[in-house]
Amino acid sequence: MLTLEGVTVRFGRRTALDAVDLEIAAHEIVCVLGPSGSGKSTLLRVVAGLQPPDAGRVLLEGADQVGVPVHRRGVGLMFQDHQLFPQRDVGGNVAFGLRVRGESRGEQRRRVDELLDLVGLPGAQSRAVAALSGGEQQRVALARALAPRPRLLMLDEPLGQLDRSLRERLVVELRGVFGQLGTTVLAVTHDQGEAFALADRVVVMRDGRVAQTGTPVEVWQRPASAFVARFLGFDN
Ligand code: ATP
Ligand code: MG
Repeated sequence: MLTLEGVTVRFGRRTALDAVDLEIAAHEIVCVLGPSGSGKSTLLRVVAGLQPPDAGRVLLEGADQVGVPVHRRGVGLMFQDHQLFPQRDVGGNVAFGLRVRGESRGEQRRRVDELLDLVGLPGAQSRAVAALSGGEQQRVALARALAPRPRLLMLDEPLGQLDRSLRERLVVELRGVFGQLGTTVLAVTHDQGEAFALADRVVVMRDGRVAQTGTPVEVWQRPASAFVARFLGFDN
């Protein structure tokens, strides 16, 4: 459903993405791993339409996305600093994308109820976001990103600020949520454990290139290079 062909992004002399080819199937959950500066966020930004590539093509369901603005791509985004709207309550935050699309109040209410149930915050519609814990805020941000039914959901370090035990719990829940909705997911994480628990497939980046892609078990059992092995923490 998502195809990248030779996607290249340069910042001055620095090549953030170097002719990246990548294919993601519908309903697949793919996690991007790699050292700091390897191009993970840039990859997501290109797919979202926030960063134009210097070369290459991005296709969503076969359609070239060059020139297609962010809000027309049908992708959902959730970043580490999820920036909920502090002046709106939980329901207002989740409904944001629905209101923008002009959905009726009744439809908005139904969808918000459904999503808050799904992310484990039933009945939280009128709570103030400032009064929520970090983990609860992440769930609201996730519900907000899922509300407009994105064909592709992209997450950049979605659980980055949370402590490990909460992260581990949420990752399992997330897999369940995505499975139920059939969401295609492209997620960046620093945390290998998170990637291996969440992903159908992992992509390991190095210096703007794809160093290896495979199922978590394949990559773990057969690192394609000394770099990947070192990155995974194997001594050699
Ligand atoms: P991290 O794990 O630290 O988030 P990353 O893998 O997400 O790293 P990117 O943010 O994609 O890495 O950056 C890839 C490279 O491109 C880095 O060398 C970075 O310094 C550079 N870069 C990214 N955005 C810009 C920008 N707007 N202007 C200049 N250089 C940039
Ligand atoms: Mg990044």
